[in-house]
Amino acid sequence: MENDQEIHKIGSQFSTLNVNAVEFVPSFVVSHQPQKDIENSIEDPPPTAPSKPIETPENNGNVVENEPLDTWDEEETILTPDGDNENEEEEMEVEDGSDALPKPSTKRKPPKVEENCSKKEHVNVVFIGHVDAGKSTIGGQIMSLTGMVDKRTLEKYEREAREKSRESWYLSWALDTNQEERDKGKTVEVGRAYFETEKKHFTILDAPGHKSFVPNMIGGAAQADLAVLVISARKGEFETGFDRGGQTREHAMLAKTAGVKHLVVLVNKMDDPTVNWEEVRYNECKDKILPYLKKLGFKAKDLTFMPVSGITGMGLKEPIDKNLCPWYDGPGFIPFIDDLPSLNRKTDGPFIMPIVDKYKDMGTVVMGKVESGMAKKGQNLLVMPNRTQVAVDQLWSDEEEVTSVGPGENVKIKLKGIEEEDVSPGFVLCDASNPIKTGKIFDAQVVILEHKSIICAGYSAVMHIHCAAEEVTVKALICLVDKKSGDKSKTRPRFVKQDQVAIMRIECSGMICLEQFKLFPQMGRFTLRDENKTIAIGKVLKVIE
Ligand code: GDP
Repeated sequence: MENDQEIHKIGSQFSTLNVNAVEFVPSFVVSHQPQKDIENSIEDPPPTAPSKPIETPENNGNVVENEPLDTWDEEETILTPDGDNENEEEEMEVEDGSDALPKPSTKRKPPKVEENCSKKEHVNVVFIGHVDAGKSTIGGQIMSLTGMVDKRTLEKYEREAREKSRESWYLSWALDTNQEERDKGKTVEVGRAYFETEKKHFTILDAPGHKSFVPNMIGGAAQADLAVLVISARKGEFETGFDRGGQTREHAMLAKTAGVKHLVVLVNKMDDPTVNWEEVRYNECKDKILPYLKKLGFKAKDLTFMPVSGITGMGLKEPIDKNLCPWYDGPGFIPFIDDLPSLNRKTDGPFIMPIVDKYKDMGTVVMGKVESGMAKKGQNLLVMPNRTQVAVDQLWSDEEEVTSVGPGENVKIKLKGIEEEDVSPGFVLCDASNPIKTGKIFDAQVVILEHKSIICAGYSAVMHIHCAAEEVTVKALICLVDKKSGDKSKTRPRFVKQDQVAIMRIECSGMICLEQFKLFPQMGRFTLRDENKTIAIGKVLKVIE
């Protein structure tokens, strides 16, 4: 009986943690601005570019004072799909886990207990990659290896899966969240689970691999600090996932855009008979994917490749058995991520939490990741962009009730003073005296990644920015930016096409929360999607109105 209760507890945990990351507005209301002449509004030269829209190469690598650590630096500024990125550190060798791992120290410091700060560092990890690469299997296996899901619960999942003759799916079930998903055998929503290592508390944002679920994936990636790209080494599967149409590329790109600092590439299914832990196949996968990741702007020091088997758990916790894999000398995945350098988040900034989802439960409960600052029980906050005054009634961090929450934590907050209907995903819960900026029209630097024709003023797409999805229209093209030199064109372009970088003025269909990228990267980077494809990525340079 005790066991049943345990199972029930875990089951309900998964169901309440289940988040539909991005909600789409079914039909967008096209707003007709009073006919203001766009040309006039951007007449003054230099058009509308802010005084220093593009960081200079001299700044490369230096974190500007007060700037959050995961800035989109110069390499990323000239992020190009074809990769002719001058600043790329081509010479740098990408580390296998073996070399990248910080030197293990034998002396462990006792945990520092500070007032309100005795918690482990919170890190959000998103598993990305093509469908069937093994993301759910690995997630489930990690939960089991860290003692978060007991063997019996996993066995129950396994039994249920067998009954439906889907025996190899059993670990996936630990992450899949509802019956419908289980029946389909697919992880549809960005499910959540968490596990703890010695020094850190990890929340898993398990991203689905289906094409139509890429928008959900964006929600997951927007919250992640660490991305784990799972690729299948099985013969034929790696190739399918990486070719055009496969999702390996798009997911990696979204992870980069969303600002994840570190990317671990797990070369999975090494146990498969077509692979058999062979170094040649591992290197083949790694060598094919590496140039693409570098093109996206991932620096060698932020990339780690590791061979694993999600199904057997090999390489996840303990180092890999030398008999199986004599050529790999790195640590297991879990100790590796436990030892990654701390994110050094700021707790002293104003409180900012983009809302991923909400529901009604004797009050209005909002969910999301705290991007900066702290919030306490009883505190007054604002829900932007509507400036609704609210008070914090109850707080949970990864399902555990707490009295305060801080940066990086995945939280649920029950609010007083607002109806559930008056909150939408993409709204932002903020400090009452220092709320996030809002706006409808802004200038942005945009990289066109993939688009079959040209983009002119009047072009519409869906913008994904933090947790918000909003229809936007390009009001005007301001200038082109040379990818290599960063020079801006003197004349205003009539159109912009694939592989080009442009500064443009963008209008949203409604008021949204956003911030200049250089002041707050998490709130100032976005993707543009059209016909279910990510066509461009961009950063906010200046909010106009
Ligand atoms: P996801 O779509 O990326 O979440 O992939 P799943 O975790 O659902 O796994 C897809 C399929 O690959 C399932 O049939 C798994 O049993 C299988 N699989 C996952 N990891 C491994 C592995 O390490 N080795 C082998 N041989 N099969 C695996």
